[in-house]
Amino acid sequence: MHPDDDPYADDDSGRVFWADAAADRILARDPEEPIVVKGGISPSGVPHLGNMNEIVRGYFVAAVLRERGYEVRQVFTSDDRDPLRGLPRKLADLDGTVVNLGEVNAGALGQNLGAPYTDIPDPFGCCDSYGAHFSNLIQSSADLLGIDVEMVSNTEAYEDGDFEAVTRFLLAHADLAREVLAEYQDKVDEDYVPFNPICGECGKVTETVTGFDAEAGTVDYVCTDMDAGDQTIEGCGHEGTATLREGKLPWRFEWPAQWRVLGVDFEPFGKDHAEGSWPSGADIARNVLGDEPPVPMAYEWFTLDGEPFSSSAGHVVLVQDVLELLEVEVVRFFFSKDPRRARDFAVEHLDQLVDEFDRLERVYFGEVDADEDERERAERVYPFLVDDIDPDRLRIPFTFAAVLGMTDDPDLREEIARREGHIPEDADETTVENALSRVSLAREWARRTDNEFNYDLKRQSIPDHDFDDATEAALDDLADFLEAEDPDGEALQGEVYESAKRHDVDIGAFFGAGYRLFFDESQGPKLGPFLAKLDREFVLERLRREA
Ligand SMILES: [Zn+2]
Ligand SMILES: [Zn+2]
Repeated sequence: MHPDDDPYADDDSGRVFWADAAADRILARDPEEPIVVKGGISPSGVPHLGNMNEIVRGYFVAAVLRERGYEVRQVFTSDDRDPLRGLPRKLADLDGTVVNLGEVNAGALGQNLGAPYTDIPDPFGCCDSYGAHFSNLIQSSADLLGIDVEMVSNTEAYEDGDFEAVTRFLLAHADLAREVLAEYQDKVDEDYVPFNPICGECGKVTETVTGFDAEAGTVDYVCTDMDAGDQTIEGCGHEGTATLREGKLPWRFEWPAQWRVLGVDFEPFGKDHAEGSWPSGADIARNVLGDEPPVPMAYEWFTLDGEPFSSSAGHVVLVQDVLELLEVEVVRFFFSKDPRRARDFAVEHLDQLVDEFDRLERVYFGEVDADEDERERAERVYPFLVDDIDPDRLRIPFTFAAVLGMTDDPDLREEIARREGHIPEDADETTVENALSRVSLAREWARRTDNEFNYDLKRQSIPDHDFDDATEAALDDLADFLEAEDPDGEALQGEVYESAKRHDVDIGAFFGAGYRLFFDESQGPKLGPFLAKLDREFVLERLRREA
């Protein structure tokens, strides 16, 4: 491999933000403006958060280049002339809601196996095609993240003849193309032709080329069966001739062709490509097309709750979904982390991600102590995460926002937040409103994870209760301990047991008394850690049955 083509190049040269290092590598080649940053995927299944690496990683590099005064074009190719090779098990509507195949008009999908995505009707009926539906979803995901990306449809590019010249070149040099690719793929034999015509009869992408005329720009084919994983997609047997606009390049050639046609200077990609089509693509660009491939950057994949994202199995979360749990700047923050490290998007622990973001923000504004490294990183990265740099912004800690979410009354939420010192006296109305908007996110997080905050806290008035003297004495002890010791959750949990034991109260019944007082229910979360997260005065009053 050419030394410039190492997608894992580890030459950060002291940069605190990986996007700066990537920008350095691009600029070292003295590129023409506009500098083109690309991403892209084939529109199979559901465009999930992991797929957004293709856009958000590029966004940071584009933003850094723009900051340095360069004109940048960020494009995303929907590889929508690819054939549908199998039925996805899940799809997503334009709102990002994941549905089973049975819930949509999926009949057309089955009939169209082997056809390009853009020739298949939209199973939801809202867009021009299955491919267009997918592109629209990607576009709205990018919009929601505030990223301005230019969508490019491969199908349109073929139809407009954008790929014609490079396809003609590849056909004219088919021997060389074959020779280079054969180093990477066993199935490439002497009959291999780097073009897949679309059958004029049944509309499927065919793989059996019987002859071609590079100069005339025609390719002869027979529509034969196509091997698609564990199944075979039947060809119709039609023999025909296609123009170079009526088909597609095989992916291994299509990618380097896109680099040439779009003039791509930088492209991030997942580790599947890093080990597969990138090495062959870079080789084809250099040694068949005579082009310098773009600056590469491999990123590690995200997992979702510890498991790989699976578009086909529906183990996915979409940007639309994530933004019901997190502010957009926190989502951007997740993507601003080092792409060379695998990361888990753990819905259960999103509070930790938000806390990390909040800290970065406070470090940026110099509100907390931080060492040199952390401060430098915050100063560099933070401005790319937010639209406005506002030193007066307010953040309510995420788990406390979840506590507030246990109360429906918005006025009461604000009152508690003020009492707990999360809203200063002089904060203006908009600032307060923005700060409290986190409550609905945290509320949704609690609901989805069904964690300890997914309860309806009875703040307004104390629920009806009837405790014996021993239980009341134990509750008073617990309150005194909380007041005197300022314990953490585990220490408080220990004291729940101790208080019950001292007064000879059955531990199960004592927990029950706590749940009655706070939720008017007989069950609830682990009491000690939970009470430790609530506002102190309220807990004291309630344990003492005063309000
Ligand atoms: Zn649609
Ligand atoms: Zn056919």
